[in-house]
Amino acid sequence: MEGSSFCKFMNAILPYKTVIGLEVHVQLKTETKLFCRCSTLFGAAPNTHVCPVCMGLPGALPVLNSKAIDLAVRAGIALQCDIAPFTKWDRKNYFYPDLPKGYQTSQFDLPICGRGHLEIDAIDPGTGAPTRKKIALVRAHLEEDAGKSMHDEVAGRADTRIDLNRAGTPLLEIVSEPELSSAEEAKNYLTEMRLLMMFLGITDGNMQEGSLRADANVNLHFEREGKTVATPIVEIKNLNSFRAVERAILYESNRQYKLFQETGLTIGQSPKQTRGWNDAAGETEMQREKEDSADYRYFPCPDLVPVILSQSDIEFATNSATMTPASVRKSLVETHSLKPSEAEVLVQQGRAVIDYFEALVKQGAAPKRATSWMMQDVLRYLNENTTHIESYPIPAASLAKLLIGIEDGKLDTSRGKEALAKWIANPGLSVEQAIESLGLAQVDTGELESLCMQLLAENPDVISKVRAGNEKALAALVGPAKKKNKNVDPRQVQEICRKLIDSGSV
Ligand SMILES: [Zn+2]
Repeated sequence: MEGSSFCKFMNAILPYKTVIGLEVHVQLKTETKLFCRCSTLFGAAPNTHVCPVCMGLPGALPVLNSKAIDLAVRAGIALQCDIAPFTKWDRKNYFYPDLPKGYQTSQFDLPICGRGHLEIDAIDPGTGAPTRKKIALVRAHLEEDAGKSMHDEVAGRADTRIDLNRAGTPLLEIVSEPELSSAEEAKNYLTEMRLLMMFLGITDGNMQEGSLRADANVNLHFEREGKTVATPIVEIKNLNSFRAVERAILYESNRQYKLFQETGLTIGQSPKQTRGWNDAAGETEMQREKEDSADYRYFPCPDLVPVILSQSDIEFATNSATMTPASVRKSLVETHSLKPSEAEVLVQQGRAVIDYFEALVKQGAAPKRATSWMMQDVLRYLNENTTHIESYPIPAASLAKLLIGIEDGKLDTSRGKEALAKWIANPGLSVEQAIESLGLAQVDTGELESLCMQLLAENPDVISKVRAGNEKALAALVGPAKKKNKNVDPRQVQEICRKLIDSGSV
C-alpha cells in the first residue's frame, strides 16, 4: 500500500511521463536444449553439457526439440496471442566470445506468437484507485541462449573463461508495447508474467538461475507547448530480479531527466543506447550504441526447416493453458466465495498450492474454513520451514477429514489445531489417531447433558437472558464448559443448553 501511494505521489509531481517496454526472456522448461540433446540442468561443472551442435563445430546439424514448440504455443495461447501457423528460423549474426557459432538461431519476421496482451495490477492515474491495465504485446519468438562468460572467477587470475552449458537453451522472448508507465507497473508486469508462465509449467521461473530475465526500454515524454517531446530510448540489459527492474527504471528516468535538462536532446538526435544495470553501484552504465536489425544481417537458417503448426497442435496447447492465474482468481472468488485478497495470497503461491486447496474443497472441506487453514496453518508451515507444498506432511485428503470433523462439531478449532500439530510431528497417524492422541474422544450425550444442567444451575443469569430473547448469552457458557471437560464441542453445549431452557427443564 505504501509503495502504491508513494508512486501515486511520484506521478503527481513528476514533470514527465515514463514510457517503458519490456522484453522478457523466459527459459522454457525442457529437459534438453533447443537444437541438440544436451541437458539443460542448471549447476553442472562448466562445459559438461555440450556437444558439436551447441559448441558450433563445423558440419554439426541442429534438430528441433518439439517440446519447446509446445511450450511456446501454450504461452502464446495464455497471452491471447495470434499463433502463427507457419514459422521459421533465422540467423542473427553478431560476434561475442560466448556465442561460438557467430550467430544466434532466432526468429526474425515470422515469430511463433503475434500480438497479444497481459493484464496487470495498476493505479488509475486519475483517481489513484487500484485498477487493472491491459498491456499489449508485440510478439513472442523462440531463440537459443548464448553461453556464459566468467570474468576473474579464479582467485589470482585476471582472465575470462567461457562456459557453454547454457548455449542453446530454449528461450521465449516476449516483447511488450511501450505501455508501462512506472517502475511499479513494470514490476507488476514481470510478476504476473512469471506467475502465468510458472502456472502453466512453461518455465521454472527461477530468477537466481537466470530462468527469467528482462531488458527494459525506457524513455521520457514531456509536454512542451502542446506537443509531446521524447528523450532517446535506452535499453537496460539483463535485469534478473524484480528489485533490479524497479531500481534500474527509477535510476534511468532520473538520469534521462537530468541529461535532457542539460542537453535538450530528443529522440532521433542521438542514437539508441544499450546500458547495463550495475546492481552494486545502483546505476546503469553505457555498454554500446544500439545496433538496429540491419546490423545483425538476419537471414533464414538453411539448416532448419520451417515449423508448420496443425490445428491439433494448437488445440493441444489451448487445452494445456486453461488454468491461468486469472482464471483461478475468478473461480476462487466466484465459486468458493473467497475475498479477492485471499484469492490473491493463494494464487501467488503457485499452481501446486492451488491444487492442494482445490483438493481440500473437493474432499468436502468448507471453502471458507479451508481458506483460513491454508493461510494460517499450511502456508505458515511452508514459510517457517522454507519448504514447498509437495513436502507438506499432511495430504489434502486427510486434512479435509479433520476440517469436516470441525464443521460437524466433532471437535472445535483450537483442538483441531492441536491435533494438526501432533499430526505434523507424527505424519504416519491417521486423522482418527491424531484426534485420539489428544484424548479427544467424543464426550457422550448423557455426560454432556448433565454437564449442561450443572452449567445452567451455576449461571442463572444466562437462563433469564435467553428467555428474554438474547440467544447470544449462551456463548458465555463455552469457557466454563471447557474448564469442566476440554473435549466438549462448544456448539453442542450451546445447543443442549438452549433445548434445556426451552423445555423448561431448568
Ligand atoms: Zn549440445
